[in-house]
Amino acid sequence: MIGDIDWEAFAAHLRAEGEEHILEQYPEYAEYLKRKNTEERKVERRLDAKDNASSDPAPLRERIVEKVIERQVIVMRCAYCKALTPVDLRECQFCGGPLS
Ligand SMILES: [Zn+2]
Repeated sequence: MIGDIDWEAFAAHLRAEGEEHILEQYPEYAEYLKRKNTEERKVERRLDAKDNASSDPAPLRERIVEKVIERQVIVMRCAYCKALTPVDLRECQFCGGPLS
């Protein structure tokens, strides 16, 4: 069975012999690499999922707080052009006038 070939060892052997190009003649090797990559990615995703499960509640709360603050942005009326500018800016975003 071709599926039983230890491609890792086979590739290492060819690499040592400088015959790596021979691997291109084996579509099974490409299949093997694809399968290997897919499996590694699956493992990574599982690790990600674990991280999210343990640390999700806090970021979620932070996101909600952020949104609330966003909606309550305090604005000041510029003394020069009368436009509304968020108070956390030091200068009017329209005319550049200083905000007291
Ligand atoms: Zn202004």
